Amino acid sequence: MLFEPITVGRMELRNRVMVTGHVTLFAEGGAPGPRYVAYLEERARGGVGLIETEFAAVHPTGRFPGACDASTDACVPGYRAAAEAVHRHGARLTAQIGHEGRQTSSAYTELPLWSSSAVPCPVNREMPKEMEVEDLDELVEAYARAAERMRRAGLDAVTVHGLHNTYLLGQFASPWVNRRTDAYGGPLENRIRLVLRIVRAVREAVGRDFTVGLQMSVADFAPGGLDADRYVEVAQRLDATGCLDWITVKCGSFASRDLEVPDMQHPPAPWVDLAGKVKAAVRRAKVVAVGRITTVEQAEAVLRRGLADLVAMTRQHIADPETVRKALEGRAEDIRPCIGCNQGCIDMLFRARPITCTVNPGVGKEGERGRAVPAARPRRVVVVGGGPAGLKAAEVAARRGHLVTLVEAEEELGGQVRVAARAPHRGELLGAVRWLEVQVRKLGVEVHLGRRVDADEVLALSPDLVVVATGSRPTLRPVGLLNYGVEDPPVRPGRVTTAYDVLAGRCRPTGRVLVVDDGEGSWKSTSVAEALLDAGCGVTLATPLATVGASIGAHSLAVLLPRLFAKGLQLAPFAVYRGMAGRTAHLTVQGRDQRRAADWVVLAGWHEPEAALYFDLKGQVDVVRVGDCVAARTVLEAIREGDAAGRAA
Ligand code: SF4
Repeated sequence: MLFEPITVGRMELRNRVMVTGHVTLFAEGGAPGPRYVAYLEERARGGVGLIETEFAAVHPTGRFPGACDASTDACVPGYRAAAEAVHRHGARLTAQIGHEGRQTSSAYTELPLWSSSAVPCPVNREMPKEMEVEDLDELVEAYARAAERMRRAGLDAVTVHGLHNTYLLGQFASPWVNRRTDAYGGPLENRIRLVLRIVRAVREAVGRDFTVGLQMSVADFAPGGLDADRYVEVAQRLDATGCLDWITVKCGSFASRDLEVPDMQHPPAPWVDLAGKVKAAVRRAKVVAVGRITTVEQAEAVLRRGLADLVAMTRQHIADPETVRKALEGRAEDIRPCIGCNQGCIDMLFRARPITCTVNPGVGKEGERGRAVPAARPRRVVVVGGGPAGLKAAEVAARRGHLVTLVEAEEELGGQVRVAARAPHRGELLGAVRWLEVQVRKLGVEVHLGRRVDADEVLALSPDLVVVATGSRPTLRPVGLLNYGVEDPPVRPGRVTTAYDVLAGRCRPTGRVLVVDDGEGSWKSTSVAEALLDAGCGVTLATPLATVGASIGAHSLAVLLPRLFAKGLQLAPFAVYRGMAGRTAHLTVQGRDQRRAADWVVLAGWHEPEAALYFDLKGQVDVVRVGDCVAARTVLEAIREGDAAGRAA
């Protein structure tokens, strides 16, 4: 069913898989340039039915830094190139057009922000202007002109974006933001007057022989916001205009950020029943279900249950642009899964960086680097270390035709990812290394487990190239800059341990536990804290920063921190760990000494590289090192560096 064709408006789609718009920061000059076109083309080549380009502003007041801009004709050539590239591979292209409303920044637009009411966005905290009636007329016209540009550029459809609490049309529809008393405020029919005007104007601008969709939220999960029943009513009214060919159903708001882009802490496909409510209520428009749908089985189930007509698998296609093709070829085990980490995509975007992907380092480099080419001369490559960096290096080198031997000291592949995945709500991390493990075995890599090798043993394998991926080790001595001057020898047998040993099940602290973050602000400290809370410990998390999780994205923190606090986590901010004596931990908090009763201290900070083998081999053989043994970081950097080493082999 998922791979059967479907007609949506005037579009014939080869299947029911969609990639919805997501800002990449690959745009150039406000339009798709070569980098973004190559990114889109790769997804079209992979077999998806309908691709939606990222948010493009219809009006200068609604621009988003680095994203597309559909407010002038200057965007048309870029969109034309995108349409041609996507069409070459049999997919269809629609463009998301919208207005950010209060959630952009005047630092970028150099114009006052527009919104329904003078209510600031909780994220950018800038006061917007309440739009005047003339502004509304200008906006309606801007949507119509932007839609007409997309038709002129040769796209197949246009998507009216923004009926989503965080964007302008949602800022009108939802009473969470809209406090107006004129014809655009008050009862629901007034609050949706603007979006109704816009869909009619867009339809008039593009004509009946063009396809028009709309993306909307169906639950704000915000105090005073709209619930699903009211949004379903909105969908019915929009459908009744006869102007829309499909409705894409999203969820969440800035009051429920974790639901906007649900990560692995959420179950798969959390919004599909809400899509089903819209599907049951509308008569004309097709419905697209969205949200952490990562497997073909999940997507098929949505269609089989009659909850939607199409299924968006957006992050899955960031992780593996060839998902559809591989599924059609019966190569399910070759589909590289999106693990729902958010680290490379939405988290990167919120750091104002172009997106990438933890498991797919090729994102954003599709045109520039191309596919890994077969090696001119097969070499004997020895990879030492079977964590994500070593596995990735082995996979790519073997795919290129090299003879690869992978040696791992432990009895299992996966390295520290296996340990991190034991933490509550982090199990999907395993997907990153499981896929690599399947690939290296299929590619004929010779794998040796439980074998710790020294330089002589490596050289005895007669390698042409050695890739050292020996990882990192936790330290019993904090290394963060703020934890200078640890006064007591922190190692007290039975009293001080590491997050790694706790998560690996090698140490089981009890009673009052002080977890020390050491300024890294990563999942390491929150994961071990949660595991200890679940085991019945009283846990205080000490950090030299203002709060915990400073390196974790807001969409993940929004569900993580409330859950930890609900489980009883205590926080010790601005706290520098100094040592442990008896059952007392010594902290310095903003220059003042503090003693805390603690039965255990768990150090959950930066790791140290395990680089001895690399230095032993250096100068004796062609050798590179990748991942944590260069500098201890995350799985994203490990896979990226393993990929680079495999390509350079
Ligand atoms: Fe999925 Fe993580 Fe890649 Fe985003 S970065 S697409 S969540 S695997």
